[in-house]
Amino acid sequence: MAFLDDVKRIGRNIGEKGKDVIEITKLNAQIAAEKDKIKDLFVKIGEAVYKDYTAGEGAAYEDLCVQIKDIEAAVSDLNVKVLELKNASKCPNCGEEVTKETRFCPKCGTKVNE
Ligand SMILES: [Zn+2]
Repeated sequence: MAFLDDVKRIGRNIGEKGKDVIEITKLNAQIAAEKDKIKDLFVKIGEAVYKDYTAGEGAAYEDLCVQIKDIEAAVSDLNVKVLELKNASKCPNCGEEVTKETRFCPKCGTKVNE
């Protein structure tokens, strides 16, 4: 009964392969989780470097930090455009968004518009 033996053997192999696939999937998930941990650490390192840079230290990363500053400036410009489109501005004291018609900031009471 060579044929049946073959079928049994193939079936067993498929079973083994199935286990392998599950194990590989588990391992890949584990690898992805570990890589996420590294990414989080990279972010923390980056934040620490940028903090040093803004405090006047960490010249080794100055180029990257300058790029962040440029992006922050661009984001700030974009935020101004959004405020203009909404016909609003920011309170100079607390940063609360106020309409052009608002005379005093509802959050801190600072005079915002004439
Ligand atoms: Zn305010």
